[in-house]
Amino acid sequence: MLKWVLLVGVGAALYFWLKRPKIVSPVFTPKPLIPEPLKIVPCAYCGVHLPAQDCIEYEQRHYCCPAHQNAIDPAGWYGQAQWRPSPNYDARPSEAVPDLVLIHHISLPPGQFGKNYISDFFQNKLDFTAHPYFAEISGQQVSSHFLIDRNGLISQFVSTQKRAWHAGVSNFFGREQCNDFAIGIELEGDGQTTFTDLQYVALEQLLTGLAKTYANLSFAGHSDVAPLRKTDPGIHFDWRRLQRENNLGQKNLPYGLEPRA
Ligand SMILES: [Zn+2]
Ligand SMILES: [Zn+2]
Repeated sequence: MLKWVLLVGVGAALYFWLKRPKIVSPVFTPKPLIPEPLKIVPCAYCGVHLPAQDCIEYEQRHYCCPAHQNAIDPAGWYGQAQWRPSPNYDARPSEAVPDLVLIHHISLPPGQFGKNYISDFFQNKLDFTAHPYFAEISGQQVSSHFLIDRNGLISQFVSTQKRAWHAGVSNFFGREQCNDFAIGIELEGDGQTTFTDLQYVALEQLLTGLAKTYANLSFAGHSDVAPLRKTDPGIHFDWRRLQRENNLGQKNLPYGLEPRA
């Protein structure tokens, strides 16, 4: 009898042991033994090679430090700008070094802000059917070195070493054809509206970068060098603010500080 009891007992124990709930062990993912290889990139300004994770990245370019991003690189391109290369440029005569900044305003269509039309226009990509006004500028080939939009976003179209086509017939104290020796900066504006704080902040930043390469730049408005044809940047451009925020000397602002058009 005892034999049968033991047999049934062992059988039951075996049954329950086989039917016990299975404990699922957590999935074990071994860590790779070899770490991801470091991506080494060159600083777009000085060329030093660093791990990408230690660099400032902007538009797939890398900079080793903020000072090298806020500068004009050896090819004439500004690190804090979007680069939007324009075909509308040529060589400066005998590689002249620019010594004048010409301030402009532009809006496309006139009086409207916030679209990509200006960049498209400077890159010869503008859809001239997109607005009736565009028929008037169809076929023109123009550019500036820089554009600062209403949000302070800076775009660059032409290397500062090259001649952008923004000034047209012009005269800076007897020196004709200002494109030869000028850097053109367009502010998105229409002559009726004040420029935004963000635009002045971006302009100051850009001029800080430019000053590292081009010391002693003078400043003028397009209307100063082409007074019979042009009114930009207009009465809303604050020359005093430009002077104050960039610590410019009087001789660098030969047309004075009064608003003008
Ligand atoms: Zn660097
Ligand atoms: Zn202009």
